[in-house]
Amino acid sequence: MGVLQAFELTGRVAIVTGGNMGLGEAFSHALAEAGAHVAIGARTHDLSVKVARDIEAGGGKAITVDLDVTKPESVERMVETITNQLGPIDILVNNAGVCYHKPALEVPDEQWNEVFDVNVNGVWHCAQAVGRQMVERRSGTIINIGSISGFIVNRPQMQPAYNASKAAVHQLTKSLAAEWAPFNVRVNAMAPGYIKTLMAPVDRPEFRRNWIEDAPMQRYGMPEELGPTLVYLASDASRFMTGSVLVIDGGYTLW
Ligand code: NDP
Repeated sequence: MGVLQAFELTGRVAIVTGGNMGLGEAFSHALAEAGAHVAIGARTHDLSVKVARDIEAGGGKAITVDLDVTKPESVERMVETITNQLGPIDILVNNAGVCYHKPALEVPDEQWNEVFDVNVNGVWHCAQAVGRQMVERRSGTIINIGSISGFIVNRPQMQPAYNASKAAVHQLTKSLAAEWAPFNVRVNAMAPGYIKTLMAPVDRPEFRRNWIEDAPMQRYGMPEELGPTLVYLASDASRFMTGSVLVIDGGYTLW
């Protein structure tokens, strides 16, 4: 297999959870550009339709699936819908996530639970439902979107639930990778630094000192900059890689 050919995803079926905005939107476009048939899975239907339309306008193939990753029955429906419409799933991108900024002593239980429900249980439900199909078929790749917050404590804002949830995502990635390697199912994670999306208000002046000036590259990233790495992790280009957590952060975690 040639080097560039290894990155091709022609005809593969992919689902991106939270694929209707931010990083998920960029991931969906990147997968489609590499030739995958992409399902955009999220709760806000209209936003998902817009992303699918944009992909189709660019010559790609995309469908939408209404999905709440916190609800196992919604996840099961997602697998069924995609399998019926596009075929069995080759690539699962567990990208849906939420984050709240609040000091530990002020975090209400509901907020702690919501963060774990989406960021950890959501990854679990999707990995289990899609992984079952992949293990049966002896084929598939899963990419979990973790974060540098799984390694470091962000500042100046406190976000204890989010940080703990992303550490869990990294360790779950390794557990599933070890368990499913014999079945030819690879599981890796990406750990981005500060990327401009609704979740990360990188332009706000109060964050400039710690988020931008502390980073060796002295800037934030754009969602599109992560697309090629996602394609690498999803494709045969990374075929000997499993259980890795790939940091992409402009050098933020070096210091
Ligand atoms: P956004 O807030 O822009 O997007 C979050 C996405 O998650 C939306 O598509 C949203 O869609 C979806 N989502 C939230 N809850 C659910 C749910 N219950 N079921 C299905 N989908 C859901 O965030 P980002 O694009 O910034 O973040 C994407 C991922 O990247 C997250 O996991 C985040 O933790 C991670 N990350 C982001 C970084 C950054 O700097 N931006 C840095 C490191 C990691 P809808 O509301 O329609 O359901």
